[in-house]
Amino acid sequence: MPDVTLTAGSAAAISLSPGDALSVRAIVAGQVAELVAHSAADPRERLSTLLTGLAEEAHTLREGMTLWSQEYRPLLRVEELTNDEHDLALEACTPWLGRALGAELVGDCCWTSFRAWLEGEGLPEKWVPYPVGIFKRADERDGRYGLRPGSSRPGDLVRFSAASACTVLVSACPLTRGAADPAAPVIEVTWNEQNS
Ligand SMILES: [Zn+2]
Repeated sequence: MPDVTLTAGSAAAISLSPGDALSVRAIVAGQVAELVAHSAADPRERLSTLLTGLAEEAHTLREGMTLWSQEYRPLLRVEELTNDEHDLALEACTPWLGRALGAELVGDCCWTSFRAWLEGEGLPEKWVPYPVGIFKRADERDGRYGLRPGSSRPGDLVRFSAASACTVLVSACPLTRGAADPAAPVIEVTWNEQNS
């Protein structure tokens, strides 16, 4: 059973202890989830998708890889995935990006949700770290670069384990969403199962 079910444009904050598991599962095809993580000891220390991509020599998630903080401390590990199309390069979706793309957004943008959490932690900064774009993809087709529908199929998941104490925020993206109905559940999040 999921601990939280998200509609597009909603988010959850989850505190993890070392060894805890966190699963992000798509309920519908085409849905993207964005994820950021912060050290529990110091929320100013965040997951760096840039450092992770370079240190792991990867531009997507793959089984066994570590997600590193800006100070090269391990925050999360990828334990299992059923889909290997994810993004480590793009920023969180914002109202301005939605406007530029002519998208009809529902709920809060991932940036809005992440920023609200940071503000609650006493970090009222405008820009937030780039997220892991779970099921997110952008590529060039017929000479035109752009966001594509999320790579998720119903039931696709990524399961992480916490490598250190951290807070993870998961947002069900309102920009790349898999359901026309804004009230439809699109992402399930489950956590706090200890990995064996
Ligand atoms: Zn988003």
